[in-house]
Amino acid sequence: MIGKTVVITGATSGIGLEVAEDLARQGAALVLVGRDRQRGEAALARLRAAAPHASVDIRYADLSEMAEVRRLAADLLATVGRIDVLINNAGAIFDRHALTSDGLERTFALNHMAYFLLTELLLERLKQAPAARIVNVASEAHRGATLDFSDLTGRNGAKGRLAYSRSKLANILFTSELAQRLAGTSVTANCLHPGFVASRFGEPGNGWAMRLGIGLLKRLIAITPEEGAKTIVFLAASPEVGATTGGSEVAAVSGRYYAKCRAIEPSAAARDAATARRLWDESARIAGLTTDGGDRGMAAPAAAG
Ligand code: NAD
Repeated sequence: MIGKTVVITGATSGIGLEVAEDLARQGAALVLVGRDRQRGEAALARLRAAAPHASVDIRYADLSEMAEVRRLAADLLATVGRIDVLINNAGAIFDRHALTSDGLERTFALNHMAYFLLTELLLERLKQAPAARIVNVASEAHRGATLDFSDLTGRNGAKGRLAYSRSKLANILFTSELAQRLAGTSVTANCLHPGFVASRFGEPGNGWAMRLGIGLLKRLIAITPEEGAKTIVFLAASPEVGATTGGSEVAAVSGRYYAKCRAIEPSAAARDAATARRLWDESARIAGLTTDGGDRGMAAPAAAG
């Protein structure tokens, strides 16, 4: 990873922080994206101690707000010359229904729209790297879920496990459609399940019942954040899934879903190409992006209505 620049969201705790530390040790230049300044400073200090020679920087944004995603992308484009790897990792589950200022249910906004919009806004820069990778952190929680296009944004009520499962299904559908669109370029896109991990997942902002339920499961069956980081690091750094090496083509893996560093089949719903295309079109409309990749720079009226 020496000489490569990695942008990683949700990097100030849990799985993301472990991934950042591993990639920093491998010599990558890291741009962390966090939300909480105190945790951000602590993450910076930890990474600089663990990998003193690595370049580690941080940006702050609330990724559940599309204006913040746009501000972050503009900042990255202005200040980071080259982006070799984008890791969309920030995500959460919420037990109460709430809308963002864009009028989107917050799980859908954070777990899907932020992945979609940040990737779209950074795509041209990623294409300029000799071999770039996009890694989307999804989940086995997608199994059993289907998207409800009559209320895709969750505005009318989805929350908790239902909203979370749908958002993670959206991560896989987004990845496969993105990989299709990137065919023939030097950029690959893959997604993964990290395992059930004893991170802060399920804690911030939730009531006692969800915290207790997830907390008990974590004690019983969860793996460590370090273990959970492995498949993300594999997809971000392993030559096995690269696009080029030493200037020559190697087997470039793209559009796949991984667990335990191996490609596995996601659910039938996650393999439905028509749903993936429709999700893309709807997401572009919600984000105010034109279908040719242009950016109208505004939320589509339907998102707020
Ligand atoms: P975590 O709660 O420890 O970390 C989540 C990260 O996302 C934190 O750094 C947090 O600051 C960031 N984040 C949350 N809301 C944000 C916002 N509005 N704006 C910007 N950043 C925000 O949880 P984790 O387990 O490390 O989760 C990382 C990813 O792994 C998520 O996408 C999650 O869905 C996925 N995942 C986790 C598990 C698990 O068992 N923990 C299982 C499958 C998938």
